[in-house]
Amino acid sequence: MFDALADRLESAWKKLRGQDKISESNIQDALREVRRALLEADVNLQVVKDFISEVEAKAQGAEVVKGVRPDQQFIKIVYDELVQVMGEENVPLAEAEEKPTIVLMAGLQGTGKTTATAKLALHLRKIDRSCLLVATDVYRPAAIDQLITLGKQIDVPVFELGSDADPVEIARQGVERAKAEGINTVIIDTAGRLQIDQDMMAELARIKQTVQPHETLLVVDSMTGQEAANLTRTFHEQIGITGAILTKMDGDSRGGAALSVRQISGAPIKFVGVGEKVEALQPFYPDRMASRILGMGDVLTLVEKAQEEFDLADAEKMQEKILSAKFDFTDFVKQLRLLKNMGSLGGILKMIPGMGKLSDDQLKQGETQLKRCEAMISSMTMQERRDPDLLASSPSRRRRIASGSGYKESDVNKLVADFQKMRSLMQQMGQGNFPGMPGMFGG
Ligand code: GDP
Repeated sequence: MFDALADRLESAWKKLRGQDKISESNIQDALREVRRALLEADVNLQVVKDFISEVEAKAQGAEVVKGVRPDQQFIKIVYDELVQVMGEENVPLAEAEEKPTIVLMAGLQGTGKTTATAKLALHLRKIDRSCLLVATDVYRPAAIDQLITLGKQIDVPVFELGSDADPVEIARQGVERAKAEGINTVIIDTAGRLQIDQDMMAELARIKQTVQPHETLLVVDSMTGQEAANLTRTFHEQIGITGAILTKMDGDSRGGAALSVRQISGAPIKFVGVGEKVEALQPFYPDRMASRILGMGDVLTLVEKAQEEFDLADAEKMQEKILSAKFDFTDFVKQLRLLKNMGSLGGILKMIPGMGKLSDDQLKQGETQLKRCEAMISSMTMQERRDPDLLASSPSRRRRIASGSGYKESDVNKLVADFQKMRSLMQQMGQGNFPGMPGMFGG
């Protein structure tokens, strides 16, 4: 899922990579890619337009953060905007002060409405909210049976009056029953049609008018992409929704629907369906969905952590040191600690776009290498740490460090040689690209 979008964004980032600043001109290239990516992911055109103009405004006003590359910063801006468009936080299902909480399920036929009704009941039962399901789809005879079967499966009662009764009356009596029995939440499954149909809408409106639900949840099939926007608009204008359930997120949906629903209705997606089984329902978290849409490992965590951990004054000092080749083993250890605070090396490398494909073996090797470095450095005297040249010129000092740290003399030789190489490399680059430490990972 979302592969197309992730690939597009990847190429947008590439355009910014290697550039030291977000600027008016490079931002346009990247924005074009994001725009194409979203359209390919089947996001509604108007939603895309609004999204792009927000991102553009934010990217242009963005302060440069030391230790963060502009492409990483751009990803973060896109990410923040994705999160915002999808509602920022998880919004749980309402719970009325007075029992029962009334939930009305709306949506087209085949979207997974009946399944979602049962899934929701199971979810609520798990958090100790008793449920009653109400079957009002009298047009499709199998619909009532389907709900009864699902009810048995999850051990939740189903209220029905057969297929001759009036759906509005079934809903009204269902709510009465829940009230009489002290049930926490009553979930009303309604009839769907293959397309928006005025009779269906009118009936839904009448049910809503009669039972006055606390929640009206629109069930949206995530495979419908563009269409989700129109669907949401129509239901919201004619019925008024308080939230949505996005179904079939386990399939190869292109993800567009996830962006449209809240942008258009202002109502949050509350749950996502991720499979046919009744257990396959998850609360919707905009931040997790945004990471998933970006599909780039967790660059965002990297940027956030770098922003938190990396003291700017310190960074400047460090950069100066590198430029003047004064970067020594004490600074190196500081950087290693910083990396450690930020999580495992594997975790960090995975966060960097394009690096995610390193094999576990390679990552493990990198980790081992870093541990070795630290062990050897801790066997150095302060003087040796401050003056790497001292070690380069003295085999006896290197021998002492080898025996002190339990590594071979050749390991110490290699560390010292690599360090010198790295220093001159850094000098050549003329700038530090923190928190990456070129040349020391591969071993
Ligand atoms: P309704 O007509 O809207 O009530 O839809 P149903 O609940 O009968 O579901 C239609 C089909 O979609 C059924 O085959 C369900 O098993 C399937 N379905 C529902 N939700 C999901 C989901 O989250 N993932 C997958 N893969 N299938 C789902």
